[in-house]
Amino acid sequence: MRPLVAGNWKMNGLASSLGELSRLKEALAARAPAYDVLVCPPVTLLARAVDAAAGAFAVGAQDCHALPGGAYTGDISAEMLRDSGASFVIVGHSERRQLHGERDGDVAAKAGAAWRAGLTAIICIGESEAQRDAGDANRVCGDQIDGSVPEGATAANTVIAYEPVWAIGTGKTPTLTEITAMHGHIRSVLVRRLGEAGRGVRILYGGSVKPDNASEILNLPEVGGALVGGASLKASDFLSVIAGLSPS
Ligand code: PEP
Repeated sequence: MRPLVAGNWKMNGLASSLGELSRLKEALAARAPAYDVLVCPPVTLLARAVDAAAGAFAVGAQDCHALPGGAYTGDISAEMLRDSGASFVIVGHSERRQLHGERDGDVAAKAGAAWRAGLTAIICIGESEAQRDAGDANRVCGDQIDGSVPEGATAANTVIAYEPVWAIGTGKTPTLTEITAMHGHIRSVLVRRLGEAGRGVRILYGGSVKPDNASEILNLPEVGGALVGGASLKASDFLSVIAGLSPS
């Protein structure tokens, strides 16, 4: 399984940030990597990011509407993202679930929209700290997969990002044992739900992945890559995270 390291810029980045993508492109173009790299900038930079990437890495979006078009002021469809050059879209990020009230059914509809438009959906799941402390993390994440991952998910059209909510932007991470256990649990739920197709779906870890912890997390056999927030904004940090893919 080819690992994927994906950067989520969230609501950060102006035209002046495109230099980071040029630096990323220069570093990656000099390699023949055995992994995939993706950057998800704000949608305002999407088309220019595709130009800056020049094929050295993929470009994706951070959200989409479930419908292909219509009277939805301010929303952006998966088809529009595809038209701008995106090949991936993140759906169900915990910030969308918490701040925009998105529920599993909304996330599943957005994942279906991504597939309709020919995009790969990165479907985010993860428990809160209270849920983990209550011993409920496996049930919560299993329920989120059941509700957010539509029938028909395959390794080609879907990536799962396990992002414990309490680890996002906090500098806190689960232990390697906890990450291994949760990724194993997610895999078993995917196989129960999707059959053989569930074995090939990449499962990323996300939540405070930084240059200094990337190697130990990315080299866990159960981890298929990372979804990286803060450490993806600067090419030098993101490249250090990516470098963690080589066994230390
Ligand atoms: C994220 O936004 O998906 C994320 C994992 O953020 P950070 O790496 O900053 O914790």
